[in-house]
Amino acid sequence: MTAPLRTVTYFPAPRAQRFCSQCGSVLARRIPDDDNRVRDLCDNCGAIHYQNPRMVLGTVPIWGDQILLCRRAIEPRHGYWTLPAGFMELGETTEEGAARETREEAGATFTMGALFSMIDIPHVDQVHIFYLANLTHDRFDPGPESLEAKLFTEAEIPWDDLAFRSISTTLRLFFADRAAGHFDVHSQALSHGMIPTPEEPA
Ligand SMILES: [Zn+2]
Repeated sequence: MTAPLRTVTYFPAPRAQRFCSQCGSVLARRIPDDDNRVRDLCDNCGAIHYQNPRMVLGTVPIWGDQILLCRRAIEPRHGYWTLPAGFMELGETTEEGAARETREEAGATFTMGALFSMIDIPHVDQVHIFYLANLTHDRFDPGPESLEAKLFTEAEIPWDDLAFRSISTTLRLFFADRAAGHFDVHSQALSHGMIPTPEEPA
């Protein structure tokens, strides 16, 4: 008899490693010689398994006075609205990654615009980067990670149902710049504040 399939809930593997990916030995955690931070160390083969922040890349897709948002079909923040964004893959540039996520999550056609926002989120070890993108069509074909993709005017933005603080921050900066008549590049840091919004899009 086979057990019923369990619903798979997305969660990233913990950053702390238990076993050496080179030789399979159990890792130690301590500060290596000539270093000043605790690392995962292999005393068998000598490998030091450094961990560094992850990049999340996305776009602000523009169609006239509207912005394209996607409603997430995956955890975390299933059912909440987001700008198309996701983790940078190996071997791509930040602009390529932002474009890839926009194609994958929204099925949008667009031309890439300028770098717009860079949001440091040190308490979750992430940096989120958004480019402007000019949509060339208002028909979308959301991929499996999105329940729907939809255009919103500023007045229609579902502020209370946005998935992540980097999204609301970027949208506020966008509408402020648009009102001012010119788009700048913005760098901001989100602190571990009172808003219990996760920052880990997939
Ligand atoms: Zn090893």
